[in-house]
Amino acid sequence: MANRKLIAVDGPAASGKGTLARRLAAYFDFAYLDTGALYRAVALSVLDAGGAVDSQADAVAAAQKLDMTMLDNADFAARLRTAETGLAASVVAAMPDVRAAILAAQRQFADTPPQAKAGAVLDGRDIGTVVCPDAAAKLFVTARPDIRAERRWKELQADNKAGAAGPDYETVLGDIKARDARDAERETAPMKQAADADLLDSSDLSIEEAFTAALALVEAKLND
Ligand code: C5P
Repeated sequence: MANRKLIAVDGPAASGKGTLARRLAAYFDFAYLDTGALYRAVALSVLDAGGAVDSQADAVAAAQKLDMTMLDNADFAARLRTAETGLAASVVAAMPDVRAAILAAQRQFADTPPQAKAGAVLDGRDIGTVVCPDAAAKLFVTARPDIRAERRWKELQADNKAGAAGPDYETVLGDIKARDARDAERETAPMKQAADADLLDSSDLSIEEAFTAALALVEAKLND
């Protein structure tokens, strides 16, 4: 039976899924897990240890040692957000043994949300298909690649310290397309819309409009 305490939000990079998932969690007072941060943390741990992200052995070792409290470290969390870490994350995320190593922690978060919250919202690429196939509400949030690249480019500009030049728009667009391809084409848990997920295209919507649309879709499923 569908779990009415679980909301799965999937979609490509910079589709707006993270913002929507966070807002849905606040609205329902559910716990929120950004599963992309876990793959980013694995990639960054490999690099910090002097390893190579395309080495299965290095990536699996880092995934097995992953501890969610790492995400509470402000410096580590800030370094997770860079474009380089995002690309490196998509390399380790294509390895089945890395995915297997962090699956149980994601399911545990979903089944027993922290802080005794009544439910959970997880966002990622395979939440509705693999991690929480029983979620009652599933959204697949997308937007055209040019729109996503523009959003991400603006975020990177804003994140940059004064004077530091960030990547140009074309580079960001190229990175997003490379990441989309790797995420959609990998064999294990590829990014895809679950058969029972609602599609939300945020290309021409403001954040408020996208949230209103997301909430209506989610409420319809949770109250069904
Ligand atoms: O969502 P975010 O951009 O932080 O994700 C970084 C990378 O982690 C993605 O490009 C994808 O390769 C991987 N990922 C994944 N499955 C998830 C979440 C993220 O494969 N559930």
